[in-house]
Amino acid sequence: MQRKRAIAPIALAVLLAACASKPQPPQDLSVTFFDVGQADAALIRTPENETIVVDTGHDARTAELLRGEGIKDIDLLVLSNAHAEHTGGLAAILDAFPVHELWYSGLDYKSQIRPLLERAEHFEAITSGAEKHIGKLTLSVLHPESLPLRARDSSPNNHSLVLKVAYPTALYLFPGDCEMECWEDMFKYHRSELRANVLKAAYHGSENGTTSGVLSNVRPKTFVISCGRGNEFGHPNESVLEMVQKLGAQIFRTDQQGAIRCLGTVCKASK
Ligand SMILES: [Zn+2]
Repeated sequence: MQRKRAIAPIALAVLLAACASKPQPPQDLSVTFFDVGQADAALIRTPENETIVVDTGHDARTAELLRGEGIKDIDLLVLSNAHAEHTGGLAAILDAFPVHELWYSGLDYKSQIRPLLERAEHFEAITSGAEKHIGKLTLSVLHPESLPLRARDSSPNNHSLVLKVAYPTALYLFPGDCEMECWEDMFKYHRSELRANVLKAAYHGSENGTTSGVLSNVRPKTFVISCGRGNEFGHPNESVLEMVQKLGAQIFRTDQQGAIRCLGTVCKASK
């Protein structure tokens, strides 16, 4: 009897330690758009306990936010483009977590980014057609069509890595900072794959990131804008908001509502 009593607390301690090492998986596909100012950073988690991060925000704050979510390692980190508001938090994330795989758009024109990419266990410049299946989750790359021959020939926005996230219950599209040239490519080569329940507004809600053509192809029910309070660019653009409202899609904004948390296709503001 005495021995049994002694074992019980040890078993409990082991169980608690196991729980502490990985957060409980969500019941459905979970996507959190963090409030990181005039920048992008999103966390995707699956019921199979996979962790994918899309963009790193400006700075070390994103690593702190990921820690706050109980994240211990990152299965895949995707960088949509090389600008600081998408890659500035990369070093802090690599310091804080093992990153098993990293995808980027092939533009690493700022010399300080390249050595960081090499710190991931595996990193790859990726183009349209790349696909990864993790349990019931499918990640597909819809853009860029090809890698840049010379960095100076490509605009980072129009060379954005566009990620489609497909789970049996929900479709999400992460177009980075895609402007019209980038969308035109996708209309040409991937029109039928653009449909999504939730669209992260391209280019922080700029008028160059969302047109009626974009909305009629993606047909989102939910439109999430990641931008900074009182930002100097006037994002999101008023005409974009009007177009999305006319479509009847629900609009969420990190600048006004803080982090946006979605489970399946249902999104809620954190404030
Ligand atoms: Zn951006």
